[in-house]
Amino acid sequence: LLQKPQESRLIKQMRSIRKKIMVMSGKGGVGKSTVAANLAARLADRGYKVGLLDADIHGPSIPKMFGIEDQRPGVDENGIVPIQVTENLKVMSIALLIEDKDSPIIWRGPAKMGAIKQFLQEVSWGKLDYLFIDLPPGTGDEPLSIAQLIEKLDGAVVVTTPQDVALLSVRKSLTFASMLKVPVIGIVENMSGMKCPHCNEKIDIYGTGGVERAAADFNVPVLGELPIDPALAEIEDQGRVHLEGNADLEWFREFSRITDAVENF
Ligand code: ADP
Repeated sequence: LLQKPQESRLIKQMRSIRKKIMVMSGKGGVGKSTVAANLAARLADRGYKVGLLDADIHGPSIPKMFGIEDQRPGVDENGIVPIQVTENLKVMSIALLIEDKDSPIIWRGPAKMGAIKQFLQEVSWGKLDYLFIDLPPGTGDEPLSIAQLIEKLDGAVVVTTPQDVALLSVRKSLTFASMLKVPVIGIVENMSGMKCPHCNEKIDIYGTGGVERAAADFNVPVLGELPIDPALAEIEDQGRVHLEGNADLEWFREFSRITDAVENF
């Protein structure tokens, strides 16, 4: 069978990447991009060459988290050159290719998938230890096609909140990963309660226990429980995710256990 030259190019690009890990969630707004961005930044802090691909074109928050939303990637003979955020961290988002960042993405399905496919083929990552792919939320056609385009994904991290609606969808995400035969590294419970600023006691705003049950049913580990922390949201709003890994927040202390698990997977 003849293979389209561009497809073999994608496969070639992906071969120089040691581990490709997708970050998924059943629904939006649970902290999927937060987890993807921090996994990439913290492993880069540890000396690995890391790429972060923002494939969630509906809520492209990744460029803002690193303060690169006004940069435009260059092009060289190998393709689109991702933005070098720090020595070890490269970031690419389809949002960086769109001129008017205030206009919502309203492309119809096929045009959108065509654009995403071309985008995946053209980005020239070079040699990487890890590539994190921030997938669109849910288990529909879009995350499926993207996951299928990137062959041989090495692992999946599933992000959820303790809320029921998110929990139902986390089960769908786990099923999705197993359909794709991508091993699940584990589930991250984000927005898992909040420390009372006055007495320091933990308040479980959304309840507890559901994530553990889903994890046990699917025989996958819970990698960590990250609290709600307004200081984290501020770091992201200020575009400082690559700079603040050592901030003295409980969120980061808990997150380092998640980074360990992904590093050692
Ligand atoms: P998703 O990718 O699932 O849509 P994001 O990572 O973009 O979610 O997070 C949605 C918003 O919630 C962002 O503004 C982010 O800064 C904030 N956020 C995420 N996790 C936390 C947390 N643990 N504490 C406080 N704010 C958070």
